[in-house]
Formats: sequence, structure tokens, C-alpha cells
Amino acid sequence: MSESKILVDVRNLKKHFSKGKDIWGRDTEVNKAVDGVSFQIRQGETFGLVGESGSGKSTVGRCLLRLYDYTDGEVLFDGQPLSKLDEKQLKPFRRRIQSIFQDPYSSLNPSLNVLELIGEPMKIHGIHQGEERKEAVAALLERVGLKREHLYRFPHEFSGGQRQRISIARALSVRPEFVVCDEPISALDVSVQAQVVNMLEDLQSEFGLTYLFIAHDLSMVRHISDRIGVMYSGHLVEVAESDELYEHPGHPYTKALLSSILEPDPHAISERIVLKNEGAGDRFNADGCQFRSRCRYATEQCAIEAPELREVSPNHYIACHFAESILSESDK
Ligand code: ADP
Ligand code: MG
Repeated sequence: MSESKILVDVRNLKKHFSKGKDIWGRDTEVNKAVDGVSFQIRQGETFGLVGESGSGKSTVGRCLLRLYDYTDGEVLFDGQPLSKLDEKQLKPFRRRIQSIFQDPYSSLNPSLNVLELIGEPMKIHGIHQGEERKEAVAALLERVGLKREHLYRFPHEFSGGQRQRISIARALSVRPEFVVCDEPISALDVSVQAQVVNMLEDLQSEFGLTYLFIAHDLSMVRHISDRIGVMYSGHLVEVAESDELYEHPGHPYTKALLSSILEPDPHAISERIVLKNEGAGDRFNADGCQFRSRCRYATEQCAIEAPELREVSPNHYIACHFAESILSESDK
């Protein structure tokens, strides 16, 4: 893994949304949805991005897809700075970078049949013609566990899991290199979630894909991700290899997220960490740590000084002043 090239390089990415303007058109309030996020994804790797709803995960994904202009920072794809490219220059990247979203029903046009839905990106990017395109779509359909006879059916005729399979086939129809998977299983029945994750993993090795895999909790991401980044209020608060993150969480927020998915084990006296001020996070503080009002470790230092993401142990990055002591606590 470490020898493969860096495909996606996110450098101090910021995306702020205006929440209101004064009569001169100046922003009166901004929502710092993403406020200085940096990470890299190597070719063939799956980078998991987790965090509660509203933490900025989808905004990061949309920036990588260049669906948004950035407020600041840069995203390099295969060395090319995406913000510098105009729509014409972006076209090849719009093929190389594809997406799968949470709700396939709203992302699939209900008036198109499966052949049209999966064939459409091929048409846009000039891949295959006529009968050849139809054969390619049928082959893809079979590859994602559907059948050739589904070619002329419409989205409403399928289950949620099948619709997600159609979305996956559509994303893969143009032979992308990188796929932003934004909560692709969150809307599916638990029984179907593992099937879709396994299929994404098989497709990854078959097509040499690189994934950004977004999820709002930590229950399914460990399995699919090589590394995981934890987001809180527009910031990355922890980045580590999956097993390391689960076994040695070093940020109080990661610990809280993990404790919420612990299986009840009658033999272990495991402590379920309840976050203070649930849902009332004081987002968009000017100074200090964004998490401090909900953190049981917080001291005065946290109100004054925002902790930087720093390498606390090899390849394990944590943005907390107390990361070392929290890590040694989790080793006990
Ligand atoms: P997540 O995917 O982690 O749930 P999002 O990236 O969707 O979080 O949202 C992060 C923050 O940005 C939220 O406060 C959300 O309301 C805001 N936001 C997201 N998209 C927009 C938009 N298009 N316009 C204005 N605010 C937005
Ligand atoms: Mg989202």
C-alpha cells in the first residue's frame, strides 16, 4: 500500500457557506462547514470519513467532486489542482471521479430505464455506441448482481438495495479511478448493508478503484476502510489506520463514537460514554477546540488554543491537547 501513488491530496480545504448578508451584500454570518481539512488517499486505498450529521463530510465529498468551489485550500487529483480547472478542463476528471450517494431513489432519474441510466454517463463521455453500449451495460448489470432482463425496467420497480446496485453500475460505467461513496449503505436494511459493502470491496480489487467512504457512525467502516478520518464540526480530529483507530482511539470524540456502537457484553464492564450537551455543540467558535463544550477532558487551555492535528504515534494523527494521556488510558 505504501508504495502506491497519492491519488487524492486534500490540502487545508475550507468551504464556508454564507448564512446571511447585510444590505451591502457582505456576509453577516458564515457556516464553516469545512474549515481546514487535510488528508491524502493513495491509489487503491479506501479512506473512511466518519462523524455525526452536519460535521461536514458530504461537503468534503462534494468539494472532491468539484461540485463546489472552495473557499480556500486545494484538492489535487493525480497531481492536478482541481480548483484551477475550468469546466472544459474538468471533463476528463468528471469521468475519472465518480460518486454514489445515500439515496439512490433521488439520485436516479425516475423516468429513465436501467439501460438509459447506466448508459447515460457512457454517452456523455463517448464510451461505446449502440449495441456495444447495451452489451456493456448488461455485463455491468450482471456484475452488480442484477439481470439482463432488468435493462428496460424503471427505478421504482426495484428495492432499495437493487437501486443502490444500479447507482454503483452507473458510477462504474465510465471506468472511474476514484469513487466518492457518500453514506451508500445508510438508507439500506442492515441485512443488505453487508452485501453492498462486500460488493464494493470486490469491485475495488477488480477495477483497481480508490474510495472515499463516508459514514455517520463507525459500525460498518472498519471493515471496508484502510484508514479512517473522524470529522467534528468542520475539522478532522483523528486519522489512523482502521484497526488502530478502533483499538486505540485517542480523541475524546472518537471514543464517544466508538462507545455508541459497542455490543452489549455481559462479561465486560464497558463504559458507554455519553456526550455532554448532545446536539447542542457550540459550532463555529472563533477560538479553541470545537469539541470542548461536550468534552469530559476539557480544561481552560482548550478554550484558548485550538489543538492541531498532529502525529502522536506513527501514522496516528490526533487533534487534542490530551491525546497522549487518552491513548495510554485506552491501552489499560
Ligand atoms: P454531513 O455530511 O457531515 O452531515 P454536511 O457536509 O452535509 O455534513 O453539512 C455541513 C454543514 O454545512 C451543515 O451545517 C450544513 O447545514 C451546511 N451545508 C451543507 N451544504 C450546504 C449548502 N449547500 N448551503 C448551505 N449550507 C450547507
Ligand atoms: Mg452527509
